[in-house]
Amino acid sequence: MNETVLIVEDEPKLAGLLHDYLKQAGFETSLLANGLEVVPQVKETPPQLILLDLMLPGRDGMDVCRELRSFSRVPIIMVTARVEEIDRLLGLELGADDYICKPFSPREVVARVKAVLRRAGDSPPPAEDLVLDESRYLATLNGHKLDLTAVEFKLLRYLAEHPGRIFSRGQLMDRIYPDERVVSDRTIDSHIKKLRRKIDAAGGDEERIRSVYGVGYKFERS
Ligand code: CA
Repeated sequence: MNETVLIVEDEPKLAGLLHDYLKQAGFETSLLANGLEVVPQVKETPPQLILLDLMLPGRDGMDVCRELRSFSRVPIIMVTARVEEIDRLLGLELGADDYICKPFSPREVVARVKAVLRRAGDSPPPAEDLVLDESRYLATLNGHKLDLTAVEFKLLRYLAEHPGRIFSRGQLMDRIYPDERVVSDRTIDSHIKKLRRKIDAAGGDEERIRSVYGVGYKFERS
């Protein structure tokens, strides 16, 4: 049987578009337009993945996501109309697996759905090939030593401790520079850039630290 994606979206045109694209990509879909209907439906017929709009009649997507997580590990992709919202959603740690911002291309959504499902199917051991020695700020990836600054080390460790989870630049800054308020977003970007270069130089895959468009960064499991 094909995998079923539950589309929760109250804009009929958008819902139809998502349905068409996912169908074409080989998925079954079911559709809900009211936030109140999601939890009962998931309990009765668990889908393989949920595309969950944030602004819904009945009950908002945040609330729905939180309750879903209290009983289910089904992959959830939150859909929101504003990039700024994502930062706030990340801070709330709703347990969503990914975030998509409107307007999006349906093609992008299909790609994200596939990626999240692939990840969900992976076995969990996080980054076995990465060894972090805190006392010396020493990191080795696949046996290759990464020559990191203290900041880069902290950044890598934080990301690697939560593989697959997306962090906003703001969250990373709070973590790396807890006392400073003057650091700009670009600082994180520049550290990430150097970190990737060093991973690459050590023979690792620099894409292990992935940038998530409009959101921030995450560390991929190997
Ligand atoms: Ca909506």
